[in-house]
Amino acid sequence: MTIPVLMVVDDNPGTLKALDDVLRHRYGHDYLIISEASPGTALGRLRELRAADRPVAVMMAAAAMTAASAAEFLAQARGIQPGAKRVLVVPRGGPAAPSLRVPVPLVRDRQAATPVLRAMALGMIDAYLPAPAAERDEGFHRAVSELLEEWALGAAPALPAVRIVGQERSARAHELRDTLARNSIPYVFHTAGSDAGQSWLQQAGQDGSALPVLVMYTGEVLVDPPNERLAAVFGLASLPAGTVDVAIVGAGPAGLSAAVYAASEGLSTLLLEREAIGGQAGSSSLIRNYLGFPRGISGTGLASRAFEQAWSFGAIPSMAGPVTALQPAADGFTLRLADGGESHARSVLITTGVSYRRLDAPGLDSLLGAGVFYGATSSGTGAFAGEHVFIAGGANSAGQAAVNMARYARQVTIVIRGDSLAVRMSQYLIGEISATANIDVRTGTHIAAAEGTGKLETLTLTNAKTGSSQTVPASALVVLIGAVPYTDWLPAQIGRDEHGFVVTGSDLADGGSPAASWTLPRPPLPLETSLPGVFAAGDVRHGSVKRVASAVGEGSIAATQVTQYLQKHAQIS
Ligand SMILES: Cc1cc2nc3c(=O)[nH]c(=O)nc-3n(C[C@H](O)[C@H](O)[C@H](O)COP(=O)(O)OP(=O)(O)OC[C@H]3O[C@@H](n4cnc5c(N)ncnc54)[C@H](O)[C@@H]3O)c2cc1C
Repeated sequence: MTIPVLMVVDDNPGTLKALDDVLRHRYGHDYLIISEASPGTALGRLRELRAADRPVAVMMAAAAMTAASAAEFLAQARGIQPGAKRVLVVPRGGPAAPSLRVPVPLVRDRQAATPVLRAMALGMIDAYLPAPAAERDEGFHRAVSELLEEWALGAAPALPAVRIVGQERSARAHELRDTLARNSIPYVFHTAGSDAGQSWLQQAGQDGSALPVLVMYTGEVLVDPPNERLAAVFGLASLPAGTVDVAIVGAGPAGLSAAVYAASEGLSTLLLEREAIGGQAGSSSLIRNYLGFPRGISGTGLASRAFEQAWSFGAIPSMAGPVTALQPAADGFTLRLADGGESHARSVLITTGVSYRRLDAPGLDSLLGAGVFYGATSSGTGAFAGEHVFIAGGANSAGQAAVNMARYARQVTIVIRGDSLAVRMSQYLIGEISATANIDVRTGTHIAAAEGTGKLETLTLTNAKTGSSQTVPASALVVLIGAVPYTDWLPAQIGRDEHGFVVTGSDLADGGSPAASWTLPRPPLPLETSLPGVFAAGDVRHGSVKRVASAVGEGSIAATQVTQYLQKHAQIS
């Protein structure tokens, strides 16, 4: 088995040795520790490692380096080893307690901190860490372990639970890879034409005429299975018998948070998800603005922690398929699933979030998954190394996708209909985009057509002002142009706004008094919908703030209101 590399670069021999000692002592068994005294030699070594197909997990550079800026070195190193985590090691500043997480000299000296914070903001580094104390600096090691865990999530796993054999640009293979990645299930993908692919097809007794083929860790072979079948293999597709206190529909941040709080408050809690744990957040490569994660956290990482937390409090997760209908019943509500199954709950929480708006242009639909993607993917970015990727959209999700893609792609072009990114994108992302050499922005432009045989090959871009069109080579188009809520499965009794978002609480009021559709003498609880006992939280809710933290907050509040409803109102409503 190839041992991954942990590289350290520092031109101060004393601090280089100290860092090398600490890392070798703790990680020397599982990682090859390579120390280099000059950034130039280190870049050469990284190229050699890439040529030898040797994985590099973490690259650390000391901020005190004089030969070159450590951050510049790490930015260059990214071009050679795009998957490796990049860490700037900053001075500890004397005998501060090892548990002190913020480096004392940088807190005192804002000017000295500026390059570090800039490197972080521009995505030149993944993290900064105070240099470790000589012995047992658990704060340092916790941070390093987290980085190694994040790296391992995106790297080829040593023990895959699933091997997929398929065509590189097949839409279904892409969907399966994305679903597995977003559910933190370790998998390896082999193209059908590769030696490994052929070998696995042979072992599975398949001739490759039907793809993708999945070889499970149990030895079971599945040919293009529906997602529910895949969930069943991992024990995630069963439904509880009887009536639960609350059924939560949708396991994004709002649903996961509600499941944690509802289950921890003692409610029997069913969490229904149709696709992947984590919702939209699960497709975000780095969430930097979620409280408590100063160095950011990947959406998949956050979702898998939350999922485990909900499960450990007793919530029952089920990925038996999408919920297709909700009906009032004698003991509460009946939820119907796409596969014909049903579940019963005394109350329901809708946390189904939103889906991306579709681009309407000839050729796009037929190339879906074969170069045209909606939403950022967790697994797909590395597949476009050296290619020209286009991103349609001008909001933060488009900006984040562009910055992430630029780590791998040769060129990233953002296409927006408006005149400026400033209208819908955060300033820090605009700064990051303008500082990234291989991202360009085409304003006042829309995508008029997509063409390609089996995979995307060209896009036609039309300038709104001049009307002129240009057909350009393109390997991928990621569409991030806004969202519509998943609410078409809800009954008419649940009121929605003109865009389909679920209306709750005081927003149901019509001129100060409850709307005509509200039939009870009590007013609706703040997150209750027009159907008493059914609640909504997160992006799907009318007026919600579209953020991870807001969805998590609403999820926890909704759980409390569900408890209140079950204690006070369920019997008399
Ligand atoms: C690429 C990207 C990057 C982002 N980055 C950030 C960021 O850095 N910071 C930030 O604060 N916000 C970010 N956001 C926004 C944030 O992710 C969302 O606001 C948040 O995920 C909303 O959570 P939610 O639980 O309400 O809905 P969602 O995350 O949309 O989850 C809804 C879930 O419901 C499921 N579902 C839908 N219909 C059904 C059905 N009928 N049956 C069963 N299940 C169903 C879906 O599959 C999904 O898993 C980002 C969004 C994207 C797309």
